[in-house]
Amino acid sequence: MNDDKFVEVKNLKKVYDNGHEAIKDVSFSVKKGDLVCLLGPSGCGKTTILNMLAGLLNPTSGDILFDGKSVVNVAPKDRQIGYVFQNYALYPHMTVLQNVMFPLTVGKQKMPKDKAKAIAEKYMETTQIMELADQKPGNLSGGQQQRVAIARALVQEPKILLMDEPLSNLDARLRLKIREEIRTLVKKVGITTLFVTHDQEEALSIGDKIILFNNGVIQQDDLGQNFYLEPNNYFVANFVGNPVIDNFKVTVHGDKITGSDFEINVNDLDKSRFKRDLTDGEYTLSVRPENILPAETGHVSAKVDDVELIGRERILKFTHDGVQARSLVNLETPIKAGDGINLKMRLDRVFLFDKEGERVY
Ligand code: ATP
Repeated sequence: MNDDKFVEVKNLKKVYDNGHEAIKDVSFSVKKGDLVCLLGPSGCGKTTILNMLAGLLNPTSGDILFDGKSVVNVAPKDRQIGYVFQNYALYPHMTVLQNVMFPLTVGKQKMPKDKAKAIAEKYMETTQIMELADQKPGNLSGGQQQRVAIARALVQEPKILLMDEPLSNLDARLRLKIREEIRTLVKKVGITTLFVTHDQEEALSIGDKIILFNNGVIQQDDLGQNFYLEPNNYFVANFVGNPVIDNFKVTVHGDKITGSDFEINVNDLDKSRFKRDLTDGEYTLSVRPENILPAETGHVSAKVDDVELIGRERILKFTHDGVQARSLVNLETPIKAGDGINLKMRLDRVFLFDKEGERVY
């Protein structure tokens, strides 16, 4: 079998009964053992895709293959999938052990109790919840419930693990801890995992690769760093990155790129980075805050509106052409609100997007 395409989605479409086209011709593949994040804003279609993979929802057209075989006509229970829902969906009247054993004690493959218990205990050890075996879910913290849900998804030894926003019920600190744990765990078990999130930092931190959606269409299917360094379009550049990217309206005429109070010569850009010829017209010039920094002489002059401390760095906020922009500097930079500064952009790191949002540079 082709391990590079362990999960393969081909020209998948979903039109809901009310006529809403939630997924429009989506194709992607997932390598065996990889943890892939499906990322995108609320309503972009992430859950719709997960539900089609699980068989809870029928595609309008297109195909889904697991390990080279189409599963669109295979019942959910026969797809060898583990699903961890956003709200964990644990059974409140059962203990942790009973919850984890449950999938093994029902249905066709109904196992004897002691065999089911042994398998459940194996995964409870992996997820470090052995000491909670006799507790009811209501007595557990969010993070503990999360681990129970994962153990329950793993007992059937599925080929593919689907997780829909599994961290959204946890507080910020716990989210960081549990996301590391999830990555370590799925790598240890070696299970191919699709993980849905709307949080770009979460996706960047745990995904072997990320598939970013908007309006039912893939915007970029790539390694995390490429969403920073090589965004396909304006949407991607603006969705990924914290602090968010700065956008300046510019006009291109001949070899001049003119902003509201700055001018850049096209010849100063890195020629190898052009995606196509730059024609005259309106564009957005975008630059990440770490690539526009205070300098003796710069491209942009501004007054600092506010300085925000974010751990090891500071964000200098300034208004340019009526729009807020940011420069990311280190803690030692002695600049305060009210100061006038010059800002210089790294021209080998700026992007130019045309009116349709397509990247030209
Ligand atoms: P969220 O992060 O908010 O869960 P999502 O990216 O998972 O969002 P989906 O739940 O897949 O998005 O929904 C995609 C689109 O399809 C949304 O516009 C949603 O309103 C719509 N939609 C979802 N379920 C149905 C349904 N049963 N009937 C009609 N439209 C639906």
